[in-house]
Amino acid sequence: MTILSYLNRAFNGFSSSSKILVVFSLSGGGLLAYSESQSNSPSNNVEHERLSNKKKVVVLGTGWASTSFLKDLDISRYDVQVVSPRNYFAFTPLLPSVTCGTVEARSIVEPIRNIIKKKDGEIQFWEAECTKIDAANKKVFCRSVIESSLVGKKEFALDYDYLVVATGAEVNTFNTPGVMEYCHFLKEVEDAQKIRRSVLDCFEKAILPDLTDEERRISLHFVIVGGGPTGVEFAAELHDFVHEDIVKLYPMVKDLVKITLIQSGDHILNTYDSRISSFAEQKFARDGIHVNTGCRVLGVSNKEVNVKVKSTGENVSMPHGMVVWSTGVSTRPVVKDFMDQIGQGKRKVLATDEWLRVKGCENVYAVGDCATIDQRKIMEDIGAIFNAADKDKSGTLTVEEFQEIIDDILIRYPQVGLHLQSKHLLSVTDLLNDPEGNARKEIDIEGFKSALSQVDSQMKSLPATAQVAAQQGTYLSSCFNKRELANFIPEGPRRFKGTGRHDFLPFRYKHLGSFAPLGGEQAAAELPGDWVSVGRSTQWLWYSIYASKQVSWRTRVLVVSDWTRRFIFGRDSSRI
Ligand code: FAD
Ligand code: MG
Repeated sequence: MTILSYLNRAFNGFSSSSKILVVFSLSGGGLLAYSESQSNSPSNNVEHERLSNKKKVVVLGTGWASTSFLKDLDISRYDVQVVSPRNYFAFTPLLPSVTCGTVEARSIVEPIRNIIKKKDGEIQFWEAECTKIDAANKKVFCRSVIESSLVGKKEFALDYDYLVVATGAEVNTFNTPGVMEYCHFLKEVEDAQKIRRSVLDCFEKAILPDLTDEERRISLHFVIVGGGPTGVEFAAELHDFVHEDIVKLYPMVKDLVKITLIQSGDHILNTYDSRISSFAEQKFARDGIHVNTGCRVLGVSNKEVNVKVKSTGENVSMPHGMVVWSTGVSTRPVVKDFMDQIGQGKRKVLATDEWLRVKGCENVYAVGDCATIDQRKIMEDIGAIFNAADKDKSGTLTVEEFQEIIDDILIRYPQVGLHLQSKHLLSVTDLLNDPEGNARKEIDIEGFKSALSQVDSQMKSLPATAQVAAQQGTYLSSCFNKRELANFIPEGPRRFKGTGRHDFLPFRYKHLGSFAPLGGEQAAAELPGDWVSVGRSTQWLWYSIYASKQVSWRTRVLVVSDWTRRFIFGRDSSRI
């Protein structure tokens, strides 16, 4: 009996309370203890729950936003149903590692039923896609995605009291000809698996007999479109794969490999600190990864990528072996259709307010990549704020009057805090200073307007990241859990237009930093407080953070063991 099967048997005895899996790390006997709490099995009185008068919550999606919403939701208060074409959660930040076999696909996914069964009650999951949201009738229409012939109907409808839209976004081709047909994407687990097979195909093709060197070279030209974090990380992974593993297996063609990264902006990783972009560009230059900035892709065929070089205006065609398209995301059709229904048809992205409620629609929330927060401008409410602050109705605002509402202003309009930071102002009352910077005792409405006129320029929309999506899911579940309490004790800021207070504090994003793995055991990180860290130690920080962020102990163990396997045996190059 192997040690593992022995442990497995031994631990089965603990299944009712907690499981302890002890993994001996091969590197010096480090010990990692794993304990997965196994809550009581789901109650079997589903029917009873359905018939009770709990409010019905329907959640669309099993990604970052919905999973973090479901994890913390108190479902003793709600009857919850989840609809998604994917019956698992995928840890997307490790998708680039799946493309070259650094991590296996199954190591980064967790069945959604494992995540929701831990709840004290029952969450229903339906493997289907939502095809239409009918907000007027509080219904969603769904269709099963199971392709084999089903007995019975594939379509069904669900009623809701509250709907949480968390369907994420889809790849954006910018309608570039040939992209849908001839490019790979890196959005889903299946995409990463396809890329892995395709990379190996390129090598197998390149070593076939009777090919010219030029033909081999074309097969081994990997083009990546998009110099954002995903494109950069994939380029780095591919480079490592080629130089650490492939060279040993296909030595005859190792010198013919070329990796080209095409970026329309002037720098790669241009949403990061400039120190990180230049570190990445220098590292790629040393590694021999060709970075073509300032280039726009005009079209892709099965043989070539056509590119316009912005600086010279010239069109260049690049023969390729494979192309990976990674240039951002756009709205899914089901969300677009919903936006048309609720008067948001002219917008690009579904808009919510700061409490994540979809604008123009009751009881519908949207979290994650499918939506954006439309932050209220302070100038839209400036008159109401002035009137609320001017308690003595003198037509002027004293510093004391202003001070009384400052906290509510800072919560309701976070751009005020950002404006103070950018202007290096120590106190909010400094906003009332005259244009020369001298303190004023009183200010009229015109003076107040001009004092705050610059504030709204600080508003920024949040990036489409897992970090934002997960924080929004957690925030929304806490609002759902406190719904009744908030009716009595509202916790939000005062309503300047209207009376009383908002039920909840608005959602506030806390940036915990972002990483860009650059290959060769080096990474760059942008950490809170304007900290930038690059190099090997940052890669180790990346390993530890990404291990700790796994949704379950099962995937944590799998991911760490995949990394260990890769260090010892290299990546597996079988094309399966
Ligand atoms: P998703 O996680 O995409 O989930 C959407 C869910 O909705 C899925 O379950 C999908 O199946 C389901 N769905 C789709 N259509 C329907 C429908 N019609 N009906 C019902 N359900 C539907 N972010 C970071 O912060 N850090 C990183 O390092 C990072 N790396 C990334 C690397 C890659 C390769 C990619 C692709 C993304 C990365 N991101 C990263 C971004 C991050 O993955 C997304 O921002 C995040 O997944 C958004 O979460 P979400 O819940 O909105 O959408
Ligand atoms: Mg007054």
